[in-house]
Amino acid sequence: MFDNHNRPINYLRLAVTDRCNLRCFYCMPEEGIHYLPKKELLTFEEIYRLVSMLATMGISKVRLTGGEPFVRTDLMKLIRSIVEIPGIKDLHLTTNGVLTSTFIPELKKIGIASVNLSLDTVDKQRFKAITRRDEFEPVMKTLNLLLENEIPVKINAVVMDGKNIDDIIPLIELTRNNKVDVRFIEEMPFNGEGNHYTSLTWTYKKIISYIQEHYPALHKIPDPDYSTSYNYSIPGYQGSIGVIAAFSRTFCGTCNRIRVTAQGVLKTCLYDDGVLDIKTLLRSSLEDEAIKEKLLHAFRHRVKDGFEAEKKRSDHLPVHESMSTIGG
Ligand code: SAM
Repeated sequence: MFDNHNRPINYLRLAVTDRCNLRCFYCMPEEGIHYLPKKELLTFEEIYRLVSMLATMGISKVRLTGGEPFVRTDLMKLIRSIVEIPGIKDLHLTTNGVLTSTFIPELKKIGIASVNLSLDTVDKQRFKAITRRDEFEPVMKTLNLLLENEIPVKINAVVMDGKNIDDIIPLIELTRNNKVDVRFIEEMPFNGEGNHYTSLTWTYKKIISYIQEHYPALHKIPDPDYSTSYNYSIPGYQGSIGVIAAFSRTFCGTCNRIRVTAQGVLKTCLYDDGVLDIKTLLRSSLEDEAIKEKLLHAFRHRVKDGFEAEKKRSDHLPVHESMSTIGG
């Protein structure tokens, strides 16, 4: 399945909930969050039907995200059903790790392809300041168990001016003795408050030069197809390092992904404000073939890049969305 810019579409990121057990300041406000009522979330049956349809259209990779996926009751039931869908080759998860450790043996058993773990700091106090919750230990337990179980793991760290710059090197040091990929992400404006910047201090270029200064032997390694990160390694280190230009948006030309938000809305670009209300379609009397037609229409009318998507938003700037509803 190709879009109107000849980019393949084969990767779905689906937010199973907008709820989260952390309050990372770059993602959500501390208070006054209006969570979606349960009936506004796609049911597991609806998600199964949607993923099955998309699998027949060419989606082969699925990532479950949120919000925090593990705050959704019975998440494992959904995971077990998705891995059985014909055509779905890889199932991935993005999690904050607070509740995840209990589920690691089963994730291993069902063959989860990889887990992305959010960890912006290796300092317990800073963790509390950034996430507004005291949950550093369970997250580290999850990291250690993932590594022990040899589940491929990527650590996602948002680089925040004045907040966790001192963590860049300690996070990289995790790659010395562990086969882990640590990815530094440019901070994006999706903090749910609409009071954000229009430019950025810690751009991917600045992050890369900062790392190079500390590790002159840093060398570029090939970026996998459709990768959103610039990838590097340090000689003698087991893991690797990635830098994601999420705000600078340098990877749109090869973007192979679509998103379904917690409220069941299709986004064909992270920066658009939703292009198709899938939940309403799923709850209508339409048959699968008719819904697939509408999905295809959306895929064939994709914006060129995240800048065009941002310009076209009906709510204009500043963006009020939170990554927890979009599905990061
Ligand atoms: N709860 C899960 C977690 O913490 O990984 C999944 C959802 S979270 C929204 C997914 C990813 O989005 C996390 O890695 C988080 O760091 C990233 N994220 C959230 N807000 C962001 C922002 N404003 N800029 C860049 N990345 C952001």
